[in-house]
Amino acid sequence: MKADIGGKVAVVTGGSSGIGLETVSLLLEADASVVFCGRNRERLEAAETELLKHFSADRLLAVQGDVLSEQAMVDLAAAVETRFGRVDMLINNAGQGRVSTFAETDDDAWRQELDLKFFSVIRPTRAFLPWLERSGTGAIVCVNSLLALQPEPHMVCTSAARAGLLNLTRSMATEFAPKGIRVNSVLLGLVESGQWRRRFQAREDKSIGWEQWSSALAQSKKISLGRLGKPEEAARAIFFLATPLSSFTTGSHIDVSGGLARHV
Ligand code: NDP
Repeated sequence: MKADIGGKVAVVTGGSSGIGLETVSLLLEADASVVFCGRNRERLEAAETELLKHFSADRLLAVQGDVLSEQAMVDLAAAVETRFGRVDMLINNAGQGRVSTFAETDDDAWRQELDLKFFSVIRPTRAFLPWLERSGTGAIVCVNSLLALQPEPHMVCTSAARAGLLNLTRSMATEFAPKGIRVNSVLLGLVESGQWRRRFQAREDKSIGWEQWSSALAQSKKISLGRLGKPEEAARAIFFLATPLSSFTTGSHIDVSGGLARHV
C-alpha cells in the first residue's frame, strides 16, 4: 500500500524530537518534502544532521521557531513559501504536558497550559490554511492525548485543555471540509519520548534503569499491552491520518494508548 505523497510537502511542528521526529522520518521515507520546527537550535540542528544522513537536503527544511509566536509562524510560512511553495499536510505536534493537581495549579499555570494547547494548533493552522486549501489533498493532524476523553487528576489543566482541543479539532473538520481539508487527531497514551526520558532522569531512585522504570510505570497505569508506546507507533498513526491513505476520514481520531482507554 503506497501513501502516494511524492512531491507533497508536510509541516511538522515540534519535529526535532520524539514523535515529531519519527513522523518527519516516515514522511521523508515516503518521498514527501518536510519542514519542521522547534525552539531549541541545538536540538533542531542535531535532528537535521541525523536526517541528512538518510535523506536528501533538497526535501528537508528545519526552521527554529516557537509555535506560540504569531511572528514565528508567519516567518515559518514565508520560509516554506520560498523553499517549496506549497503545503499539503500540517502536523500540529509541538508541546508538552503539565503535571499538577487542581490544588497546585494557579491562574498563571492554567493560562500557560490553555495557551499552549490551543495556540500551538491555532497559530500554525491559521498560517498554513490557505495553502492546505490549494493542495487538493490538504490534511491537518493534531497530536492530542487520551486525557481529552479520560482525564487524570494529577494532570488537571492538561486534561481540560486536551478535551477543548479535541472539540476544536471537530469544529475545524466541519468548517474546513468544504475547502477539501481533512482534520483528525491521534489520542496518545504514554509514549516513550523526550517527556518521559526527562521524567526518568528526575526519578528519585537512580539505581533503577529505563526498562524497569518504564515497565513499572506501564503496570501502575494498567496499560493493557504492558509497556509504553514507541514514538514510531504514534508516528504511523499520524502518517495514516496525514496522507490520502485516510482520504475518507475527517473529524475523527486514532487511539494510540496500548489499551489504556477504559471507555468503549
Ligand atoms: P518531545 O519532548 O520528545 O518532543 C516535543 C517536540 O516539540 C520537541 O521537538 C520540542 O522542541 C517541540 N516543542 C515543544 N514546545 C514547542 C513550541 N512551543 N514551539 C515549537 N516547538 C515546540 O515530546 P513527545 O514527542 O512526547 O511529544 C509530542 C507531542 O505529543 C506533544 O504535544 C505532547 O504533549 C504529546 N503527547 C505526548 C505523550 C507522550 O506520552 N509522549 C502523551 C500525550 C501527548 P523544543 O523543546 O526545542 O521546542
